Amino acid sequence: MKFFYLSSRPNKDGLFEIHDRECELIPDALNRDYLGPFNNGKEAMRKAKSMNDSACLCRSCCNVAFQAVFVKSNQD
Ligand SMILES: [Zn+2]
Repeated sequence: MKFFYLSSRPNKDGLFEIHDRECELIPDALNRDYLGPFNNGKEAMRKAKSMNDSACLCRSCCNVAFQAVFVKSNQD
């Protein structure tokens, strides 16, 4: 379980990024809304879409391929 946040400021594509709490790219506390605990970015996305139709997944913390590599190296 991770804690996810939705940026309240659009990125350069006009989309609002979803980040997990550990993401280095997460906006500061004033510029994000708490989504809740989810197993992955995809589940957080479902909630975020109900709040903001322009929500998108952060490429750094919510990208599945990247995350798989990251988790694996973490467990070594
Ligand atoms: Zn992120």
